[in-house]
Amino acid sequence: MRKERKALYPGSFDPPTLGHLDLIARAAKIFDQVVVAVARNDAKTSLFSIDERVEMIQEIARHLDNVTVTSFDKLTVDFARDIGAAVLIRGLRVLSDFEYELSMAINNQKLNPEVDTVCLMPSEPYLFLSSRQVKEIASLGGRMDLFLAPEVEARMRTKKLGG
Ligand code: ADP
Repeated sequence: MRKERKALYPGSFDPPTLGHLDLIARAAKIFDQVVVAVARNDAKTSLFSIDERVEMIQEIARHLDNVTVTSFDKLTVDFARDIGAAVLIRGLRVLSDFEYELSMAINNQKLNPEVDTVCLMPSEPYLFLSSRQVKEIASLGGRMDLFLAPEVEARMRTKKLGG
């Protein structure tokens, strides 16, 4: 019997956008199991807590039955090994993503040669969409429905944003 193919999609997801969801849905078509995992990174200040981010991803991806959501607090490749994932999913939007994703993929390869990184391209509407820009737009009162699922948009409205 063929071994189940499990992929890990790690990220900050602060907040999860329609671009992230597009990638999750694409990965869910390719792999048997997709684990979306919010990375705890104390060096980054975040708008949403880890639990809030996990809950929001669970809400927006609830229609995808081979997707589970969790968080982790260690090296990504170590977490991948813990859960039996041989593939890391990352997104490539524009050229500027490439250098960062390439260096991370190569370093992860050195740390654990058993884990490969697969980069997926988003659908065209999400090419220029990032959590950081959504936060900026929201802080200036711009519309968020172009970028966020309604559940995430509702939570954004409860946050006090600067600007
Ligand atoms: P990180 O801090 O790990 O970069 P992000 O949540 O910003 O966390 O992104 C996680 C991954 O999802 C990254 O590989 C990023 O390139 C990808 N990603 C983010 N937004 C999009 C998008 N709109 N389309 C495709 N990939 C995306």
